[in-house]
Amino acid sequence: MTKQLILIRYGELGLKGKNRHLFVGRLAENIRASLKGLKDSQVRVSWGRLWLEIDADQQAAAIERLRRVFGIYSLSPVMETEKELSAIADAAYLALHKALPRGGSFKVETRRTDKNFPMISPEISRSIANTIFARLESERLEGYEADMHKPQVTIDIEIRSEGAFVFGETIPCAGGLPVGCSGKAAVMLSGGIDSPVAAWLAMKRGVAIEAIHFHSFPFTGERAKEKVYDLCRILALWQGRPIRLHLVYFTEIQKAIYANCAEEYGITIMRRFMYRIAERIAKSRHCLALYTGESVGQVASQTLESLAVINAVAQMPVLRPLIAMDKEEIMQKAQQLGSFQTSILPYEDCCTVFLPQYPKIRPLLSAAQKLEEALDIEALIAEALAKTEVKIISN
Ligand code: ATP
Ligand code: MG
Repeated sequence: MTKQLILIRYGELGLKGKNRHLFVGRLAENIRASLKGLKDSQVRVSWGRLWLEIDADQQAAAIERLRRVFGIYSLSPVMETEKELSAIADAAYLALHKALPRGGSFKVETRRTDKNFPMISPEISRSIANTIFARLESERLEGYEADMHKPQVTIDIEIRSEGAFVFGETIPCAGGLPVGCSGKAAVMLSGGIDSPVAAWLAMKRGVAIEAIHFHSFPFTGERAKEKVYDLCRILALWQGRPIRLHLVYFTEIQKAIYANCAEEYGITIMRRFMYRIAERIAKSRHCLALYTGESVGQVASQTLESLAVINAVAQMPVLRPLIAMDKEEIMQKAQQLGSFQTSILPYEDCCTVFLPQYPKIRPLLSAAQKLEEALDIEALIAEALAKTEVKIISN
């Protein structure tokens, strides 16, 4: 079976010293985890870059998976050839044809670290470009031009002591930092559109996640749970590892709030309970922060006044990556990560079940605290935690 080599580019040029080393090590580990099940793949760190060697017939499947590994900026399939001009030109011609099947502008760029090769880099580039043009002409292919400044495609050639390498096609990937290199956080995951995007953006910055979901069985049904499992499956694909989901039984708390507190404060108090419980779970799991899908002004509980009253119960940082985004932008991201179609399935969610008709848009902290005096907060939290189930969800 022929082997295909893929160059894996990573970014974050600001990373230095020890950080860089950890970053690359973690990235290599995550890549290996993502390729599990594919035959004979080998990830190597050499020449200051990451390379994947894989059976040629597994290449497409591997690329599909690598596009979801955070920390990778782009990929290029590489052709390895004899260190000889005509072989290099053959490969360069193929690469150009693949990258620009219907013409366009290109540039050939050479790096020569093997100083025994008898030509210098600009000479090699020029010679290869000339051969490519001669061949395009002999095959009557039109519409190609050289452009040294803003080419659509750059054909890169590297001449090393080990051999010559040619790569043309550059496949953009997800960017970000390798999941796990920034620690772990807990994401409050509803079945909606926003929180999966918040989870995805957390992972994009290298944060490994656990998910916390509040359900109000039997007011919310089995299918609402299934939907959250499906969302976790999608997120697990991006994490490259299973997701630990904490399913919190929230029914008694909702009933207690409904029975004892002024209706207009129902959502505020309910969300304060969610934060309290999420924080306890997060601490017990050594998570460093909470993430939510909140965005300023989106609903009554997301005005600055509401966020302040809700946030007041949390000691841990509560991070809200969507805080400045419009719904439209959030939906685009949901499409990109693949959660949108699942999120819009119309199952009851615990917030909609007890939704007050006129929720307080500018709640007061003192009023919320006063209303909560009617509740045995600790007992309610303890009961919900005791009935919390944990599921490990893999893709
Ligand atoms: P989403 O689309 O994420 O459901 P939303 O716009 O519907 O968000 P809210 O329902 O006010 O807004 O929820 C705000 C945030 O609170 C969510 O993004 C999520 O992080 C968290 N949250 C809401 N409901 C739940 C739930 N049932 N379980 C876990 N977290 C929740
Ligand atoms: Mg919601």
